[in-house]
Amino acid sequence: MKTKNLLSGILLAALYAILILTPVLVLLLGPKLTSRPSLLDLSVSLAFVGLAIMALQFVNSGRLKFLNAPFGTDLVYHFHRQIGIAAFLLVFAHPILLFILDSRYLRYLNIFTAPLAVKFGLLAVLLLVAVVWVAEYRQKLKIPYWFWKFWHGILATVMVSMALIHIFLTGNYVSQPWKKELWIGYSVLFIGMLLYTRVIYPLKLMRTPFTVTEVKKERGDIWTISMNPSDGKEIHFQPGQFAWLTAWKTPFSDSEHPFSIVSSAENTGSLQMSIKNLGPFTAKIQNLKINDKVYLDGPYGSFSIDRYPQAKKLVLIPGGIGVTPIMSMLRTLADRGDQRPLKIFYAYQTWDAVTFREELEDLRQRLNMELVYVIEKPPQDWQGESGFLNSAILKKYIPEDWMGDDTEVFLCGPTPMMNAVEKALQQAGFSEKKVHTERYSFA
Ligand SMILES: Cc1cc2nc3c(=O)[nH]c(=O)nc-3n(C[C@H](O)[C@H](O)[C@H](O)COP(=O)(O)OP(=O)(O)OC[C@H]3O[C@@H](n4cnc5c(N)ncnc54)[C@H](O)[C@@H]3O)c2cc1C
Repeated sequence: MKTKNLLSGILLAALYAILILTPVLVLLLGPKLTSRPSLLDLSVSLAFVGLAIMALQFVNSGRLKFLNAPFGTDLVYHFHRQIGIAAFLLVFAHPILLFILDSRYLRYLNIFTAPLAVKFGLLAVLLLVAVVWVAEYRQKLKIPYWFWKFWHGILATVMVSMALIHIFLTGNYVSQPWKKELWIGYSVLFIGMLLYTRVIYPLKLMRTPFTVTEVKKERGDIWTISMNPSDGKEIHFQPGQFAWLTAWKTPFSDSEHPFSIVSSAENTGSLQMSIKNLGPFTAKIQNLKINDKVYLDGPYGSFSIDRYPQAKKLVLIPGGIGVTPIMSMLRTLADRGDQRPLKIFYAYQTWDAVTFREELEDLRQRLNMELVYVIEKPPQDWQGESGFLNSAILKKYIPEDWMGDDTEVFLCGPTPMMNAVEKALQQAGFSEKKVHTERYSFA
């Protein structure tokens, strides 16, 4: 990782810790409310940290480039998910501790008779349970992704608003003006992020649409679309990064999908994505027409060879549609005349469906690369590797001197394949920190 990214990562992590702990410090540093037992203070402190985390969830899901650059988008998304569960536990502990402290608080569970401030608190906790539970079990509950995403945003907004109203109405911990100002600050941050992600940013994307210039069928039920920026500006990205695509709708619709950029980073005039038919949106990609307007938000992601310029050797492992970021890396390396030694292990179900296989043959001439296909169901006369990519195949082609610090490994493919290959790489002798992955499942 580049030093700049490492430094900004440390700074952002420190700022995050300060922001979530400040409400507790303010609670502890303020004049002691002597009549209040410390269990009550603890209960409120936990809820404050939980709420500060919830308010900051709008920042870490807001696709801010300065936040995504040091950590990578997938890490930020996974953090958003895990820290959401932690916040849920902290907030949930608030009423539980109150009930332990004094069973008379149990009467507040009747939402009809509870004071207004408590009503808001109760509703916020109920919404929080719903938001976190549905996010965890969306796939099992068979809720369509677009439907979930829409309601996740709305319910989370209502939940945080209600929790803030609960604090202001309860009043105990915001009695001094500076404590009130702190929570007003958090409210402004939260509303500001909403305004930015829902109004300002979509407006910016609206002003810079892309025009579809080609729609081409590839092997493996994949369609490649080429797009040019309509303002003619140059496109800059790192090979392996991705962007969010919105088609047939405006950026205000919040119905964008992430796709790796498949073209060379050296081609700054136009950009391509190769998309496999896997669901409602991807099934329609082939219907895009030349001159259609689409919107791209990017680039994002840390899955790139350009983040490791010191690497002397590269091992690239695509599986199925996971070939797209790897293809961008190969096209870029070829365009740059980069002759670093490369080993590619390309796993696919059938030989017939191997996407870009003709172009890969051409790339063999332009790059210093050994290309090994691993075909799960090979044709009868197949001479190459077959079955699943495992440590035995890796060891057969990768010599011992490739296991050192100067080799970086990039892996992208279906989740079961990635899990298996990550283990195989470790068995073959690669250190975990040398293996970089891109998973096509944020949610
Ligand atoms: C970083 C990244 C890069 C990707 N690159 C490619 C690529 O180059 N080519 C390709 O064909 N596919 C790629 N994908 C996968 C692609 O985004 C999904 O297949 C597509 O969004 C599915 O949408 P759908 O409506 O057709 O299917 P759905 O049935 O709606 O979605 C199937 C699954 O895709 C995921 N998904 C759907 N919509 C979104 C969304 N808006 N945001 C995040 N995840 C979503 C969810 O896990 C969902 O369960 C990539 C995914 C990620 C995260």
